[in-house]
Amino acid sequence: MNYQKLKGTADLLPEQTKKWQVIEEKAKSLLKKYQFNEIRTPMFEQLELFARGVGETSDIVTKEMYDFKDKGDRHIALRPEGTAGVVRSFVENKLYGPEYHKPTKLYYIGPMFRYERPQSGRQRQFHQLGVEVFGSRNPATDVETMVLSMDLFKQYAITDLKLVINSLGSTESRQQYREALIEYLEPFFEELSKDSQERLYKNPLRVLDSKDKKDKEIVKDAPSILEYLDEASLVHFKAVQDMLTDLDIPFEIDTNMVRGLDYYNDTIFEVITTNPKFGANATICAGGRYDGLVEEVGGPETPAFGFGFGLERLVLLLDHMDYAYPELNPLDAYIVTMGEQANREANKLAYALRQNGLSVEREFMDRKAGKQFKTADKLNAKLVFTLGKNEIEQGVVQVKDLNSGDQSELSLNDVYTQFEQVYAKLTSK
Ligand code: ATP
Ligand code: MG
Repeated sequence: MNYQKLKGTADLLPEQTKKWQVIEEKAKSLLKKYQFNEIRTPMFEQLELFARGVGETSDIVTKEMYDFKDKGDRHIALRPEGTAGVVRSFVENKLYGPEYHKPTKLYYIGPMFRYERPQSGRQRQFHQLGVEVFGSRNPATDVETMVLSMDLFKQYAITDLKLVINSLGSTESRQQYREALIEYLEPFFEELSKDSQERLYKNPLRVLDSKDKKDKEIVKDAPSILEYLDEASLVHFKAVQDMLTDLDIPFEIDTNMVRGLDYYNDTIFEVITTNPKFGANATICAGGRYDGLVEEVGGPETPAFGFGFGLERLVLLLDHMDYAYPELNPLDAYIVTMGEQANREANKLAYALRQNGLSVEREFMDRKAGKQFKTADKLNAKLVFTLGKNEIEQGVVQVKDLNSGDQSELSLNDVYTQFEQVYAKLTSK
């Protein structure tokens, strides 16, 4: 039997995980600066949570759910996205309680599952990083979180970014807009794509972000949602724009940008890359304010703001850009060995060097010295320690600095007993 991975899944081999680790480390250290804390919630939840939290009519819930009955006959789903689980956890653990600092700033990173047709950048198990802020209605939260998303992508030297924002207003104003939009779209019914015809009465706002060419033309002249905002939403949206301007962060307003789900309100945003190599104007990150969701999931009324993005697509983008991933684990020392006694000593030496904080690899395969040196070179070792029969007899080790070419001989005893002085001398040359 030849086992193969399931369709839509991927093995991340060391060559790949090196990239992922760079991405994750840079992201995590930036998230720390912004004072976001990590939350890890289960990979599966009650199906009902996602139906509620993601939206019964969304593609995710109607078509893409990985759901099953477990042996206890519970209807379970692998999480298709991160927000629902985080909100469930926020409510269940009462993170809104008075003992917690507010707002609650959380991030998650991990695998998500959707039953989709796999293709490049579209898998059945993929990964998302997302943040959620709970408890702040302050437009400064919208701005800080949007700026964080832009800042994240800047960590990887992605510069051709565009911040696009819109406001969805309140539930009430959106209802009025909905009606106006249906009224505008109805005369075009026959010309709309099949998808948009279906959405017209169920969720007309989604016609606005149809990818269909003809649809796009039709919605160009549709009424703008901004004309329907109530006073509070207008003030909020203006404050968001002013604060972005304070930071000299350029942004565009796209009044046709929407979210499919009812619990979004006020500010929504997307980060778009204009890199032509990645298909101009591809969305790499999306998010917004969702003041209604915590209540929807059974918690107290709690304003919230968040975003999420896919890591596979980020890796693809970085590959397109020929991003030079920094080496996270540079090799400090490689130990070349010749003979059985050296083989034994090398264990001691590697152990001592590692105890002193160095990253070390040693020879295990008993190859010719020349081959071992080539390996040290290939692994980009800073220092090569050589142990042969003579060295063992004299209690010394030869050290070569591969950058400078400098060579020296050290007493093994010195290395073992006064590493710091020896190493300082070695690296100061
Ligand atoms: P798409 O239009 O590409 O299907 P989506 O609207 O379903 O995206 P969201 O549900 O908003 O996407 O998820 C956020 C991000 O997660 C996406 O922008 C993308 O980067 C990533 N993503 C979504 N589905 C997949 C998938 N099947 N494989 C890999 N990444 C995905
Ligand atoms: Mg999708």
